[in-house]
Amino acid sequence: MPRTALVLGGNRGIGLAVARRLADRGDRVAVSHRTGEPPEGLFGVRCDVTDPEAVTAAYARVKEELGPVEVLVVNAGITRDRLFVSMTQEDFEAPLHTNLVSTLHTVKPALRGMMRARWGRIVLVSSTVALSGAVGQTNYAASKAGLIGFGRSLALEVARHGITVNVVAPGYTDTDMVAAMPEAERTSLLATVPMGRMAAPEEVAGAVAYLTGEDAGYVTGTVLQVDGGVAMGH
Ligand code: NDP
Repeated sequence: MPRTALVLGGNRGIGLAVARRLADRGDRVAVSHRTGEPPEGLFGVRCDVTDPEAVTAAYARVKEELGPVEVLVVNAGITRDRLFVSMTQEDFEAPLHTNLVSTLHTVKPALRGMMRARWGRIVLVSSTVALSGAVGQTNYAASKAGLIGFGRSLALEVARHGITVNVVAPGYTDTDMVAAMPEAERTSLLATVPMGRMAAPEEVAGAVAYLTGEDAGYVTGTVLQVDGGVAMGH
């Protein structure tokens, strides 16, 4: 059954792969984009997820065009890598605001409609570093670990309303975010991946598609790691 889906940060990288995958299975897909134009063939709403008013307006546009949001993918995220010893307040707070604090106004508007419909799927895009930690990522890892606690708590609160909340924790994925890393750092990170390669964004999208689909109706509060085996810790 086709659903209305909103992918936050759906204009590139993992978010775009998710949006295309959901559109391919027949969902009515909206993507939020903070900059530039929406991707070709997808309905776009411009908004910065840290701006509550812009998010409210984006939800109103999606409802008007495609109906109430039934599938929400919280994917927009940033890094601000620095060693903790030289991290400023602003460096520390920026990923926390974008990746975690913004869920207050990005997730809440979807919940009311989902509760009314007694059906909903929420996927939060975290990261393997939420569990493993990473040098230079105290801020980012804290935000992504926070998403896991947030997601599991919300999963408990809404379970009886037919709404599932799950977390996908990707490992190194071939997007602009990883391309921005220095080559030497990328090479040494790849050496820690049992599969010896990065994920393609489409491989992460496959996990999101499963968790947001009809088949995953009894799966909630889980953290699905899509990381080429990194979580095994070898
Ligand atoms: P990209 O840097 O390629 O894309 C980030 C996306 O987030 C863009 O769509 C961007 O929009 C959007 N975004 C960032 N800040 C905001 C904001 N304030 N408001 C609205 N949108 C915003 O990242 P990836 O595709 O690699 O990452 C997607 C998610 O996956 C992130 O949450 C990331 O932390 C997570 N992740 C990525 C991994 C990787 O190796 N790539 C590994 C583990 C997790 P715009 O284009 O307008 O800037």
